[in-house]
Amino acid sequence: MPAETFEFQVEARQLLQMMIHSIYSNKDVFLRELISNSSDALDKLRLETLRDDTLQADTSDLHIAVEADIETRTLTIRDNGIGMSHDEVVQLIGTIANSGTAKFLKELKEAQDSATSEELIGQFGVGFYASFMVADEVTLLTRRAGESHGTRWNSSGEGTYTVESVDDAPQGTSVTLRLKPEDAEDQLFDYTSPWKLREIVKRYSDFITWPIRMAATTADEDGAEPGTETVNSMKALWARSRSSVTDEEYSELYKHISHDWTDPLETIRMQAEGTFEYQALLFLPSHAPQDLFMQGHKRGVQLYVKRVFIMDDCEALMPTYLRFVKGVVDAQDLSLNVSREILQQDRQIELMRRRLVKKVLSTVKDMMSAAPEKYGTLWKEFGRVLKEGLLDDFENRDTLLEISSFASTQDEEGLTTLRSYVERMKEGQEQIYFMTGESRAAMESSPHMEAFRAKGFEVLLLTDPVDEVWVQSVPEFDGKQLQSIAKGEVDLDTAEEKKEVEAEREKQQQDYAGLLTWMTEQLGESVKEVRLSSRLTVSPACIVSDTHDVTPALENMYRAMGQ
Ligand code: ADP
Ligand code: MG
Repeated sequence: MPAETFEFQVEARQLLQMMIHSIYSNKDVFLRELISNSSDALDKLRLETLRDDTLQADTSDLHIAVEADIETRTLTIRDNGIGMSHDEVVQLIGTIANSGTAKFLKELKEAQDSATSEELIGQFGVGFYASFMVADEVTLLTRRAGESHGTRWNSSGEGTYTVESVDDAPQGTSVTLRLKPEDAEDQLFDYTSPWKLREIVKRYSDFITWPIRMAATTADEDGAEPGTETVNSMKALWARSRSSVTDEEYSELYKHISHDWTDPLETIRMQAEGTFEYQALLFLPSHAPQDLFMQGHKRGVQLYVKRVFIMDDCEALMPTYLRFVKGVVDAQDLSLNVSREILQQDRQIELMRRRLVKKVLSTVKDMMSAAPEKYGTLWKEFGRVLKEGLLDDFENRDTLLEISSFASTQDEEGLTTLRSYVERMKEGQEQIYFMTGESRAAMESSPHMEAFRAKGFEVLLLTDPVDEVWVQSVPEFDGKQLQSIAKGEVDLDTAEEKKEVEAEREKQQQDYAGLLTWMTEQLGESVKEVRLSSRLTVSPACIVSDTHDVTPALENMYRAMGQ
């Protein structure tokens, strides 16, 4: 069969253009990406052979090889993993599955300077396409384990690629890069140098659990052809002592797991011994991925059993509201065949999950005092997700309230915690006042705010959609009731003031009785009641809902959802 020519998907083409013109300065990462893909492919093959013993696959010597050819200036990264079928090649290599791509590209186009672009690319990660930072032509040869025919994919990254069937491809995938001629003279980009390659592998991929082999740099004693040697140490970082692992090594593991190109904000280590032994290495990212709020966003914790990768997106280990946490949990006492269904029902796993959650939350809490800036970043990026926990994680509700921050009338820019709100509460104030709405400006100019401003009461300003929901289910913090200022009767006066006001009100009530009756008649069905208000100081009138009614914003939300 002749080679077929395909066009790259629009987003893929745009991304490739950026790679070709190398707007990312750290080109070395292409090797990390290719090795990472090979490592995933080997993991997948091992899992498939475990689950399906009819699969015709060779698993005798699973490894990754990096081979450079100085003469032809080509570099090949080879694995004997799961490989790809013809259709998979077209689907996986020709398109970008990441659902946040469109948004990412839009932001990238709007980015003015190269530093911003670089940061955006770092946050997005470009995977296989990173090859085109260093190569002007890439050939991928692959055969899926169990299939007889292979597939060759070739492209110079400019708009199109070709795909053809080949009879004699080895199992797995090899990616051959024809290195850009313009880099030939530059030592920095000499990707044919064994020392350079070795250094990159050590730096980025040392923890990969499969051997990464390269031609040995020293000739054998007797002067024979040099053989190959394994370059990475293959040591699982979570099983090593804290003092023997550098921050850089943790960072690289994080990048491998998360497909993020930026460093994590925080690394969390855990270890449990005894009847159910496990080790965990969790990471809090420094920025939210594009698709955090999209359907089907994956959770970031991988499950290993005795150093063997079992599954990613392990929902039994993290609740949805901690879906941004990345990492590895390695359990010693599970079967390699463990399934998602079994995990969901396992009591030990449930216990482990509860401990992991507590540890993540206590880490955030510690951060608040020990590293307020870090906490600020975390809250800015993930606060909206964490607050989802207030809806259903009753066990950790108090901690979640402790680590939450909110905008408030007390501070124009900064955020406040409930704890410091309570500390600032005025003499005689019993409740924590809040308002929910679309924006700070809208709430500040709301008539509901007037009396509170006049009396100098602080009001929390909640603008996230999730705020509408959790405030319904959280009654109090630290014994202080949470009270919406847009709901029911709010009593802002002291006993003394009350007496005076009462008398005044009685009088007004009589004076305005006629007007109120008339207004109630005129407005008819639209309102329940018209009454004199003590909460306004400037506006002539405002609409109030009953304590148990839905708030206006929630009403809008339900309406938008078609209810
Ligand atoms: P990501 O690794 O984030 O999914 P990549 O662009 O790196 O994105 O790779 C895209 C997909 O192509 C992978 O998810 C995988 O399915 C497939 N792929 C890439 N390299 C290999 C390989 N060496 N063996 C098997 N499949 C691969
Ligand atoms: Mg990848």
